[in-house]
Parts: sequence; structure tokens; C-alpha cells
Amino acid sequence: MSISPLMPVYPRTAFRPVRGDHCHLIGEDGKRYLDFAAGIAVNILGHSHEGLIGAIQQQAATLMHVSNLYGSPHQEQLAQRLVDLTFADTVFFTNSGAEAVECAIKTARAYHQHVGNLDKFELITFRNAFHGRTMATVSASDQDKMHKGFLPLLPGFKYVDFDDLEGVKAAMGPNTAGFLVEPIQGEGGIKPASDEFMKGLRQLADDNDLMLVLDEVQCGYGRCGTFYAYEQYGIEPDVLATAKGIGGGFPLGACMATEKAARGMGFATHGSTYGGNPLAMAAGEAVLDVVGHASFFAQVRETGERLRSRLEQFIGNYPDMFELVRGRGLMLGVKMKVEPRPFVAHLRDNHQLLTVSAGDHTLRLVPPLVIDESHIDEFMDKLSAGAASYSVVEVA
Ligand SMILES: *Cc1c(COP(=O)(O)O)cnc(C)c1O
Repeated sequence: MSISPLMPVYPRTAFRPVRGDHCHLIGEDGKRYLDFAAGIAVNILGHSHEGLIGAIQQQAATLMHVSNLYGSPHQEQLAQRLVDLTFADTVFFTNSGAEAVECAIKTARAYHQHVGNLDKFELITFRNAFHGRTMATVSASDQDKMHKGFLPLLPGFKYVDFDDLEGVKAAMGPNTAGFLVEPIQGEGGIKPASDEFMKGLRQLADDNDLMLVLDEVQCGYGRCGTFYAYEQYGIEPDVLATAKGIGGGFPLGACMATEKAARGMGFATHGSTYGGNPLAMAAGEAVLDVVGHASFFAQVRETGERLRSRLEQFIGNYPDMFELVRGRGLMLGVKMKVEPRPFVAHLRDNHQLLTVSAGDHTLRLVPPLVIDESHIDEFMDKLSAGAASYSVVEVA
């Protein structure tokens, strides 16, 4: 037998984290790593937030899981808070981002099918998008590397260039049900959509009675300096998928919708065994207690601006390595002129700094949202040292 007991779908690193300490991870080797990856934009409160730990411990000892057949004060409470803070009138809780997007796709289709519009099943989606790894969510992305080996794809998605409103108009037809878009592409390379694009999609949806579905799994939940990124575009979606930061590390996601958009999601149309169980709700409440305040978002914007200006100054020192900085809040990407992957490995293995690569040659920085000046200083020190040693060894 040559296959590992663990299905080898991830090319895992030699670094094996075993403990978290606020914005650092401690490896099996005992070394401390500064974590600007945060489980890929998940651990927004860092790794050892007392409020989150306490809430999970207490709920685990009280009631961990019950069926969604029963009434749920826990879900009602968190759903109400999300409704109060957003465009949404109603919320379905999931265990992951892909499931949240999956529910959002079903909601958009059901909106039309509920009134007998059986032709309107197609969502226009965008090149280099990432929506998850289920069959529907890989079908929603144009990326061949996620399709290979898994054909046939699910029908009902049409790919258009990101940020190309004219392309969207040209792709629209009698089957169009709506649009599914990340306001700021994450895996695609930390690329914010333009104002005109997002406003244009909203207008097209309004004019043609279509669903604007946002995938804010990565860019939402305070990451970009507002609760959700759509707020920065002056629009509201019909449906939105959220996950990653919402549980602060506990598996949790949600599909949120307006009353109108959710008209097809009646009794027995959808479900999940674990979705929204009391333990997940306790984690979600504890995270929202910290995150759900204007002052928290202001702090993210301020910290993000400081990190961004330090980065912009810094990349000028290495014009052969770095091209530009993009993103919003604490979702930042440095576009590189060299392959980012080996540089990410170099920063990790030689400087104990954790980052993530993304598409379009991007070094992705998605730290905990609770970093302070000391973490920015430590980050810049490690990045400088990493770039200095890298440019000598690998690039020159
Ligand atoms: C991570 C991500 C997903 C998938 O979330 P999972 O929890 O891995 O299923 C979907 N959409 C976006 C934009 C993401 O970044």
C-alpha cells in the first residue's frame, strides 16, 4: 500500500502546528510562527481568544448537538443578530463556505422556480472565482484545475471575465437567473471589483428581476473593514454566502437572504444535520460579540491602512520581486514578479512567518483581525529579512 491513510489531496508542509497563542502558531518543533494566514482568513480573533474558548467550553458541557427537527433558541438568536446587522431578512446556517454557497445557488434557482419560471436557472459567474469544492461550487468556477477528473460539471453556470460589465450584458439571456460574485476575489488574487461593476450588477438584477448573489465567505465578516464588503459598494445583495471568519475557527457558515429572494425556500426544501447546532451557535455568538461593532470595523480599517502603507513603502526596495499592493482592510495582496509559492515557503521555513499564496502571482495576507502595531512590526521585520535573503539566494 503506497497511499497514505490521510487522503493525499493536500501537499502538506513539514511545518506541523500543534498549538496557538494569539497571533502566533507553535510548531511541533517548538518554534513560534507569526500567523498572517489565520487558517486562510478564518481565525479572526487569533488562536486563543478567551471569550470564544469559554463559550465553546460552556456550550459543549450544556448541549452540543440536537436535530434541526426541534426548535432552536440558539439559532433564532444568532439569526436575529445577523438580520439586524445586514441586508438579510432570513438566515440558514451551514458548516462550511461551500455549503453556504450551495444554499445560495439553490435559493437563487428556487426564487424563479417557485413561481414557475423554470427557464431561469443559470447563474453568471466570474473567471478565477473560488466558491468551494462541492460539485456545484466547482462548477460555478471556470478553473480547470478544480474540474479535472470530476466531469461532468453541473450545468447552469456561465463564466464571464471578472469586473467586465459589458461581458455580463452579452452573456445574459432567457436562462439567466442571476449573478454569483465575490466582491473581492480571494483565491483569485485579492482583487476588488470596481464600484461601477458592483453597482452595474445590482442595476441589471433590478431591471431584469434577477438575483444578485454575493460570495463573501472570504471578504466578509469584518475582514475588509466593514461587516460585509458590499457595504463599501453602496449596494445590497439578494442572497449572500458567509463563512470563514464567522466561527472564528469553529466550522460555521450561513446563507443569508431577503424575504423576497428566499420565497422558494419553504418547509422541507433544504436542510443540514449539523448546520447551526448549539455548539456552532455559541461560537458564532462569541465571535459576533467582539466583531459586531462599528469600533471594531474602524480598527480593522486603521490597522489595514497602516499595514498597507508599510507594505507600499517596503516593496519599493525590491522592484524585481514585488509589483503592487491591493485589497481592502486586512485582506491584502502583494502582487509579485516571481512565483509566490516558493517565497511563501521561504518566509515560513526560514523566517517563521505564515502567509498564503493566491492566484495572479499574489502573496496573500489575511491575518487575525486583532493584530496590533507590534504584530505589524514583527511582520515587516520578518518580511524584510525574508526578501533580503531571498533576493540574494533565489532571484539574482
Ligand atoms: C474558502 C472559500 C469558499 C469555500 O469555503 P469552505 O469552507 O472551504 O467550503 C467559498 N468561497 C470563497 C470566496 C472562499 O474564499
